Amino acid sequence: MRIETATEAGRPDVPNEDFVSVALPAAGQGGALVLLDGVTPPADNGGCMHSVPWFTARLGGALLELTVTRADLTLRQCLSAAISRTADAHRDTCDLSHPLTPQATAVVVRWGGAEVEHLVLSDSALLLEAADGTVTPVLDDRIERLRAAGLRVAPLRNQEDGFFTAAADPAVAARAVTGRTPAAALRSLAAVTDGAARGVEVFGTDDWPGLFALLRKAGPQALIARVRAREDADPAGTAVPRGKPYDDATAVLVEF
Ligand SMILES: [Zn+2]
Repeated sequence: MRIETATEAGRPDVPNEDFVSVALPAAGQGGALVLLDGVTPPADNGGCMHSVPWFTARLGGALLELTVTRADLTLRQCLSAAISRTADAHRDTCDLSHPLTPQATAVVVRWGGAEVEHLVLSDSALLLEAADGTVTPVLDDRIERLRAAGLRVAPLRNQEDGFFTAAADPAVAARAVTGRTPAAALRSLAAVTDGAARGVEVFGTDDWPGLFALLRKAGPQALIARVRAREDADPAGTAVPRGKPYDDATAVLVEF
């Protein structure tokens, strides 16, 4: 079994708001991965006295712990419990009803039995490689569909008919994309934050199978270097408009 991961902050002077962790073995002989992309806070910090890395470390740590110790819970239940536990850690000091209270995207995968379980919430991506080499992206494409419809997405955060992130409401777990794949049908899988997926989603220079092939051949650091090279070619984000010229980028590859 091979597991590789890499992460890099978008800017050296700003803390990395991504989170990635892998546990081996978990729940007996299997394992689990958790990947989060924290949402950059507004000027008022979303009514929270804590940093985004404070939030992602707590949510990601709780999520990994629950995923590996509670095989009796579904991944949705694990996410719901992790959100509650994290909210409890700052409910007394912060305004958790603020629309930009600390929040994150999430990808969770758990393997070890006959099936590999997955959960995807918001715009980090999971890629599944079948035994025959076919790569299937698993995406929660709500934000993409809103943008394609010409809507401003910011006011639609965690709103009905909008898009959803893991913030302070455990009920959001019901909105996650989940599924199971027979373990024998999978050769490998990968999870990437949107900062590592820019070749596909922003620059249009790669497709998902190509991104996955680079991960398999050259590893996560090479993928991030490729994204940085594209960003460096347009450092102000003028030729290819994008929210941030440089974004935190994280990738993790799991070969069974
Ligand atoms: Zn707080």
